[in-house]
Amino acid sequence: MKSKYQKIKGTFDILPPETEVWQHIESTVHSVCQQFSFQEIRTPAMESVDLFKRNIGDETDVSKEMFVWEDQSGKEISLKPEMTAPVVRAYIESGFFRKYPLCKLYYIDSFFRREKPQKGRQRQFNQFGVEAFGTKNSEQDAEIILIAKQILKKLDINNTNLMINNIGDSNTRSKYESKLKTYFNDHKNSLSELSKIRLEKNPMRILDSKEKEDQTIIENAPLIRDLLSKEEKEHFNAVLKHLKGLGIDYNENPHLVRGLDYYNGTTFEITTQSEGSQNALCGGGRYDSLVQKMGGPETPAVGFAAGIERIILEAKQELGENHIDIYISCNDEKYISKGFNIIYDLIENGYKIFFDTNKKNIKNQIKDAVKSNAKFMIAINETITVKNLLSKKEKNVSEGEILAFLKNQ
Ligand code: AMP
Repeated sequence: MKSKYQKIKGTFDILPPETEVWQHIESTVHSVCQQFSFQEIRTPAMESVDLFKRNIGDETDVSKEMFVWEDQSGKEISLKPEMTAPVVRAYIESGFFRKYPLCKLYYIDSFFRREKPQKGRQRQFNQFGVEAFGTKNSEQDAEIILIAKQILKKLDINNTNLMINNIGDSNTRSKYESKLKTYFNDHKNSLSELSKIRLEKNPMRILDSKEKEDQTIIENAPLIRDLLSKEEKEHFNAVLKHLKGLGIDYNENPHLVRGLDYYNGTTFEITTQSEGSQNALCGGGRYDSLVQKMGGPETPAVGFAAGIERIILEAKQELGENHIDIYISCNDEKYISKGFNIIYDLIENGYKIFFDTNKKNIKNQIKDAVKSNAKFMIAINETITVKNLLSKKEKNVSEGEILAFLKNQ
């Protein structure tokens, strides 16, 4: 039967049993982040449009793809397309910068971008990520990368490539941008249409291009590395040294720039080595001026965001069987309060139960209990019958004997 309503384009239901995979990923993120004493933050699904337009840049793909509307009072609101700006807003608004001079936060959340839906690209998607505020030191960059790698390792995703670069501060970037502009202008006629447009607005984004005709031009483009200050170079080398010490492999990618305006210094991306264009699992870097730009005190920061849907495409986790310990039948109104007491005792003692509230006839319930792979069935009436669904043995027991009987099976 065709459903009367369909989900909105680019959005997906996450249905059982796949929800088990999500629970596994989420619990891995919680446990690894908490091992590093990062604390969880949750922010609203909507924010004022300005928060994103002003801070991630209104010429970036992300801000152009926002879901935006005017509410009844005329205020422009957006569903959040990313988490760094909301986390920074909350960090400043809550006064956390005073409370936690070194503030380490993580999140798991849904984000919304009105992109053209395709494999690995949705309009509502999920990310987890971490943000650390309060230090410029290279150890913090390395710890962030270690967390990303550790989460992927715990999810058995080992076939990844860590690419890393340093894009300098805004001075270095503007020098680089004008150098790039001149270079790409000299090769304008050979550039793809998309890159020609980017040349006017954001020449650094051309370095991200996947178009074939751009590749040789990009390969020979000037490198930001050659414009970095002594301090920036030292910082970058220190991060690389920490990674080496940790045994984390990386590839320096002098063309790796991030799509959003607020990044500076270290930038990195973790990609999978499997085929396909959407192979970026995780992207991150420093954003040392964003807190101040958003009205907070001068506070360096570094973080990453990882796409859960893309990680799921990589994580080959077997779905566990849905074990039910005890299938419960209680079909007679007269005994329902006895039934609920028994159910309560069972769950308090750690059993997983399935209560067949359908009140079908008992023969069909037994068939369903066997199909469900439950180990036991308890039929509650005037009498209480416990049936071992494997050995087929059954016994009438009193309410007080149930737990002891189950233990002895
Ligand atoms: P970004 O916030 O653009 O740096 O993206 C961080 C990660 O989120 C990417 O590496 C992807 O894994 C994931 N991601 C970004 N946009 C989407 C999308 N539209 N659909 C699914 N995953 C996405």
